Amino acid sequence: MKPKIVRTIEALRRETAKWRNDDLTFAIVPTMGALHEGHLALVAEGLEHADKVLVTIFVNARQFGANEDLSRYPRDEAGDVAKLAEAGAHLIFAPPPEEVYGEGFATTVVLKGPAKANLEDKFRPHFFDGVATIVAKLFIQSGADFAMFGEKDYQQLLVVTQMARDLDMPVRVIGVPTMRAPDGLALSSRNQYLTKTERGYATAIHKSLMQAAEKIRSGTDPQKAMRAASRSLTTLGFKVDYVTARNAETLAVPQSHSDEPLRLLAAAWIGKTRLIDNIEV
Ligand code: AMP
Repeated sequence: MKPKIVRTIEALRRETAKWRNDDLTFAIVPTMGALHEGHLALVAEGLEHADKVLVTIFVNARQFGANEDLSRYPRDEAGDVAKLAEAGAHLIFAPPPEEVYGEGFATTVVLKGPAKANLEDKFRPHFFDGVATIVAKLFIQSGADFAMFGEKDYQQLLVVTQMARDLDMPVRVIGVPTMRAPDGLALSSRNQYLTKTERGYATAIHKSLMQAAEKIRSGTDPQKAMRAASRSLTTLGFKVDYVTARNAETLAVPQSHSDEPLRLLAAAWIGKTRLIDNIEV
């Protein structure tokens, strides 16, 4: 069935209040649209946890830097609605920017911890302020019981989890494994930017992380393995922002010779497109 679309906070609250009155739980899936199988996996996981699934579609200008791809970010609401109908989502919140950021809007959430790990935050200084602000607003606007976030954006998942915990937001944040193309490339709305040749190379990010994980499992020092992964990407023509091993829970640089859980994270440019990926060891 085609999900209902609401565009105002008032209409959103009306719909979610009906669910509450019927004692139904619901999960929120925040997205920027241009939906792919990765987003739909979040919807599927939401349906596992809650009675209803609310998907939000909002290209949040506040999380884009001045020189980033806001103006060319892909948009396809009709296509998104069709995919969400197929996936079994119940409600779509797709507000215009002025509904979200009223005139004189002046509040952001101040983040530390995983938001200051010298990863995405180093290369996109405004990103997490923008993400935390919109996500906090969406949590408050919707009152969702569960919130589904992709491991694909691993640092974001940790930042949102930390924010919800620290600010006592009554929502359970759930991480969903990364959906990949058959060759391993993490699905992303930004993959649409890739030329055919770039798309061919793009799989190297995941491959280099997998190789590094294998080496680390067989005893190679994590940072040595990651330096080799970074070099291999540079040789292929990528411009590497970071390729690094971090503590999987805090994103701190791991102690040497420790057996702490590791996450391998990468961000690299291929041509004009910036791709990110991460895997566990
Ligand atoms: P976006 O629309 O790119 O902001 O992403 C919305 C949500 O979908 C975020 O929680 C992302 O982490 C998640 N997501 C994006 N790509 C994938 C993927 N390939 N697999 C799983 N989740 C994803």
